[in-house]
This record gives sequence, structure tokens and C-alpha cells, in this order.
Amino acid sequence: MKKHNFSAGPAILPASVLEEAAQAVRDFNGIGLSILEISHRSPSFSAVLEEADELVRELLGLSDDYGLAWLTGGASTQFFMAPMNLLDDDKMAAYADTGSWSAKAIKEARNFGAVEVVASSKPQNYAYIPKQYEIPAHAQYLHLTSNNTIFGTQYHSWPETNVPFVADMSSDMFSRPVDVNRFGLIYAGAQKNLGPAGVTLVIVRKDMLGRVSRKLPSMLDYRIHLENGSTYNTPPVFPIYVSMLTMRWIKANGGLQGMARHNEAKAKALYDEIDANPMFRGVAAKEDRSLMNATFVMAEGKEEMAPAFLQATKDAGCVDVKGHRSVGGFRASIYNAMAPESIGVLVSVMQDFAQKNG
Ligand SMILES: *Cc1c(COP(=O)(O)O)cnc(C)c1O
Repeated sequence: MKKHNFSAGPAILPASVLEEAAQAVRDFNGIGLSILEISHRSPSFSAVLEEADELVRELLGLSDDYGLAWLTGGASTQFFMAPMNLLDDDKMAAYADTGSWSAKAIKEARNFGAVEVVASSKPQNYAYIPKQYEIPAHAQYLHLTSNNTIFGTQYHSWPETNVPFVADMSSDMFSRPVDVNRFGLIYAGAQKNLGPAGVTLVIVRKDMLGRVSRKLPSMLDYRIHLENGSTYNTPPVFPIYVSMLTMRWIKANGGLQGMARHNEAKAKALYDEIDANPMFRGVAAKEDRSLMNATFVMAEGKEEMAPAFLQATKDAGCVDVKGHRSVGGFRASIYNAMAPESIGVLVSVMQDFAQKNG
């Protein structure tokens, strides 16, 4: 049976990318060697890294004011690496607390300087994105989680401030256009919307760097990675290669505008069903709903039918529709690579379920 992959991460990748990556594992570009067994300094891999960097720059329209690097350690390493590089002990950074990942970023940042949590939706179990809050002008940056993977909320407009943003875009990177110039730093673990687990893309405005007085270990100093073009040490060769293939696919499918159109249409189809179907209700505030992770639960009084619905999704080939334990219910992750047909299958399961049990 065809599987429809609604996993939150590691997550769906375009079928053509998987095909090409599988071929490269056997024989990369006809060189008679696998991508897994060549030097990260070989001409073959240097070309991959160069194309990956160019595609990031082209997709986002990055100016030379920005550098980028492909790092390891996941977005979780960026939770401490960002403040370590950007926030001096006697300075302050503002953080918006919009979910579990934001909360983890806040916890790590407190090790390096003063942290002011300027907004939090925690008391409402992170069901919305706070708006209209004060951001002190002396904050070194405002940290945001652009898409809250677990709770199903996403920023659809950015706070009004001159303070540069530092953003965790792990789960909506390359899903829509962004005005990069408002961001001092963007980081994204690849395994949600870009590639396999094992690589994290970091984009940083160069003038944000070199302002802290603490000593930085080389591997945790953005400047070292920028100066060495992501090859200070052995970078994660295969995850970078697959991410490069995914970016080629994004470019061929209309770039970030094409992704946004396609993602809006997919999300609308699913949310329309959640709203219309008497068996279900959405969890996140409507205006803040994520185009990447749709969270929903059984309607009031129908809670005990959750296991039966989950079983029905599995019977139709829908994988990982179960919600995160901190929200319960269901979560359908519908990243770039998910085809509208797969949304259609889930919507049919919801309709059939209502017909049989409503
Ligand atoms: C998954 C996720 C993380 C954690 O990423 P790791 O690569 O596991 O460290 C952080 N932030 C967001 C928004 C995520 O979705």
C-alpha cells in the first residue's frame, strides 16, 4: 500500500530526491565511488557544497552581508551556540516563548547573558502566537521560533522592532519567502523540511559576530565555520548532499513562492475539513495556524474515539498522525514534499470516519 508520510521529523522528502540520493550511495555521478566514501575535500564533494551554498543564497536572496554554514549538533546545539556567539555576559537578549523548543532555547541562553522573556503563550498551552508586546531597544536580538512544530502555530507576520531576529526555522525553512534582512541569524535542523537528520543550516549576518568577550572553542565559533566554508572539520557529507538535492527540487518547483502557494493550498484543504467535520476540532488559534504542522483533536464528547480514528488513518496508509504527547490528539505534518493527494487521503479518512460514527 502507498504510504502517506505525516511524520513531524525526520520527515518526508521528495521521491525524486530519494531516488537520486539512493543512486549516489551506489555510484556518485558515475565516478565509480559512493558519495559515502569520498573525501569532503574532493572536487566531487566541493562542487556539492558550492552548489548547496549557492542554492541557499539564491532561494533566500541573501546578500554578501550574510555568511552560511552547514553544522552538526542539531537545532538543539544552536540553542546554546547562538547566545554563546552573540550575547555577552553583561548584555540582554529578548526571547518569545511560543513552545517547547522556544523554552529549551531560553534555558540554554540563560547560561550566557541576561534573558528577558518578552512574551509567552505557555499559560494557554502554546495555542497561539503572542502579539503586541514590548521589545526593549537594548536587546541584542529577539529570539523567535518561526514555526512551533509540536503545537501547530506559526508566525504569519513578524514583530515590529528594530532589534534583529534570531530565528529557529527548523520546521518551516524554505516553506515560504522571508524578508531575510530582518534576521541576524537563522538556524534550521534539516530533518523537518530540508533533508535527513545530521545537518543544521546556519545563516548569519556577519556584523553580528565578534562582539562577545568570552573565548569560543573553534568548533563553536561561527566565524571559524564561515572562514572555512563549512569544512573546518569533516562536515556531514551525505545530509548536505541530500539537502542540496532538495533545494534543487524547490527551485525547480517555483522557489519559495511556489512552495508557499502549494503549502497554503494543502493546509487549507486540511483545515477546512477540520473545521467542517463535526468529529474534530483544531487546537491552535485560527490566525496562527501552522502551514506545516496541523494539530487537531476529537470534538468534545467524542474523545474516546481517538484510538479508532488513529487506526483508520493507519489502515489508509497514513503514517504518524498521532499528536505529540504534550498536545494529545493528532498532528499532520505536511511539509514541502507532501503531495496534495496525500492530504486528500487523510481528508477522506476523516470524512468516512464522520459518516460511520457521527
Ligand atoms: C525538531 C526541532 C528542534 C530540535 O531539533 P534537533 O535537530 O533534534 O536538535 C528544534 N526546534 C524546532 C522548531 C524543531 O522543530
